[in-house]
Amino acid sequence: MTEQTANTFDASSSEPIIEIIDMHKWYGDFHVLSDINLSVERGERIVICGPSGSGKSTLIRCINRLEQHQRGKIIVDNIELSNDLKNIEKIRAEVGMVFQHFNLFPHLTILENLTLGPIWVRKEPKKEAEETAMYYLNKVQIAEQAKKYPGQLSGGQQQRVAIARSLCMKPKVMLFDEPTSALDPEMVKEVLDVMIDLAQEGMTMLVVSHEMGFARSVAHRVLFMDSGQIVEQNTPEEFFHNPQNERTQKFLSQIL
Ligand code: ADP
Ligand code: MG
Repeated sequence: MTEQTANTFDASSSEPIIEIIDMHKWYGDFHVLSDINLSVERGERIVICGPSGSGKSTLIRCINRLEQHQRGKIIVDNIELSNDLKNIEKIRAEVGMVFQHFNLFPHLTILENLTLGPIWVRKEPKKEAEETAMYYLNKVQIAEQAKKYPGQLSGGQQQRVAIARSLCMKPKVMLFDEPTSALDPEMVKEVLDVMIDLAQEGMTMLVVSHEMGFARSVAHRVLFMDSGQIVEQNTPEEFFHNPQNERTQKFLSQIL
């Protein structure tokens, strides 16, 4: 294991890239997130777990404004998330997101999926965008599939493409929402390996996942959510071996 994947994080010298302060969110009358406080340092890797419906997806979707919060603050790289469209655009350019169901454009080739954002959002010349795309496709070991369409690829390959597509936008933070839970078991490792590579390069990552092996080897911190709150957070070592909260203990006994 390299220096950067060791499960220690020295936050003393850095400033947070994400700060969430007293944040609440409602879906209509339903109070889905309450009193969320979370500070993420540059280079920090956080795994978020918790029962289905506990608000994990909603929390990370609030970070790039796919969902709106109603109370409190979310600040990403010194930009406060508000209804200001310019700010939202800036944050979306800095925060990459990978979803459970890949969300690739089915009618575009793999290469076109990767160059669409850089060409239209970042105004990159096509040739440059294609070079960057091929670099990242190589990195996720899928360069030979560049001319194919998403439907011709396996789930694991599609998810690696989705990760490469995010990286083409040169994000400062990557959010992953259960990136391996829609995959057949034999494809989970190839996607986790790509994520471990990213971790080794020092990417700031928030990963909703129940892959405990991944959490143990890569996360600096594990958060446990229940009923819209962050109930417990700790180093993976402490979290798995010495969970404090009764709800965490119950959850772990069900999944481990
Ligand atoms: P998790 O990712 O932990 O499974 P979610 O964030 O998806 O949880 O959902 C948290 C709760 O909010 C669930 O009860 C879910 O049914 C509800 N919810 C999610 N999205 C919406 C929505 N768009 N409108 C109303 N309720 C929603
Ligand atoms: Mg979810």
